[in-house]
Amino acid sequence: MVIDGTKCVSCRMCATFCPTGAIAKFDDADGTLGVTHTPGDCVKCGSCRDVCPSDAITLLDAVPASWLTGGNRHRYVMTLRPVSLTDNPHQILDTFRLDFNGDIFER
Ligand code: SF4
Ligand code: SF4
Repeated sequence: MVIDGTKCVSCRMCATFCPTGAIAKFDDADGTLGVTHTPGDCVKCGSCRDVCPSDAITLLDAVPASWLTGGNRHRYVMTLRPVSLTDNPHQILDTFRLDFNGDIFER
C-alpha cells in the first residue's frame, strides 16, 4: 500500500486497524510522527484503505520483489491536520459493518 501525502490527514487509523502490523505508528523523540509500512508483512486485506477517512491509500497490484524479500520498510512522515467527517461521521463504523456482515453495534 502507498499513502498519498497530499490527501492524508494523519489520523493513523490505518495503523490501528492493520491486522498484521504491517503498518506501525512511530513517534520520534524530536516530535516527528507518522507510520511505517513493511510490504513483506502486508497481506493486501484492504482494511487500511477501507478505514482511511480521506481516501489516501492505494493498494498496488504489483510491487518489486525486493520490497518483499529485502525487509523494506517505508516511512511516511505526517503532519497533524483536522479531519472533516461531515460527509459521513460514521464512516469507520460503516466500514466495519460491511467487513463483519453487520455484526457491529454502536454504544
Ligand atoms: S488512515 Fe488515511 S488519513 Fe489516516 S493516517 Fe492512514 S493514510 Fe493518513
Ligand atoms: S492491506 Fe491489510 S495488511 Fe496490508 S497494510 Fe493494509 S491493513 Fe495492513
